[in-house]
Amino acid sequence: MSFELPKLPYAYDALEPHIDARTMEIHHSKHHNGYTNNLNNAIAGTDLEGKSIEEICANPGLSGGARNNGGGYFNHCLFWNIMSPNGGGEPSGSISEAINDSFGSFEEFKTIFSAAAGTRFGSGWAWLGVNNGKLKVSSTANQDNPLMDDQCGCTPILCLDVWEHAYYLNYQNRRPDYVNAFFNVINWEEVNKRFEAAIS
Ligand code: MN
Repeated sequence: MSFELPKLPYAYDALEPHIDARTMEIHHSKHHNGYTNNLNNAIAGTDLEGKSIEEICANPGLSGGARNNGGGYFNHCLFWNIMSPNGGGEPSGSISEAINDSFGSFEEFKTIFSAAAGTRFGSGWAWLGVNNGKLKVSSTANQDNPLMDDQCGCTPILCLDVWEHAYYLNYQNRRPDYVNAFFNVINWEEVNKRFEAAIS
């Protein structure tokens, strides 16, 4: 069993004007596809073959191609699913209460998450994760993620790709504008589902 590139849950142009169709098409069909193929090659014939992507990411001492492409595969799968053309606005339900408990308010959460995304130097990701029922914002370099044993130890429920390939065609060097636009497409219903699963 090898990993397959998942279908996007919406069309390439569905997130416009916040994320443009050309960026989405290249990001999914070239970048994510590349991580998928390179992951399959990296784990072929190793102990990691046949494991779930979560198990691979959490494998102690994960390194090299399995780390870079295992992270790349997992991170993009989550990223596509926590965005929606019907997204944006403020969350409701359990995640809304948890955000208020952990950060004070939704606006305060937005400030903290945007700072994590904005200050990640070079390529990486910003995360909202759950650890012992508590929410935590973090960021990682390259394709690392919170499941990896030397990272924050959270269950990731929301992520933002801040590699230049995720925004450069439309936003060039203006990463803060891209981060701001991302808040218009967050699928809070999906994030809430993942939060409730993580705490149950
Ligand atoms: Mn990417």
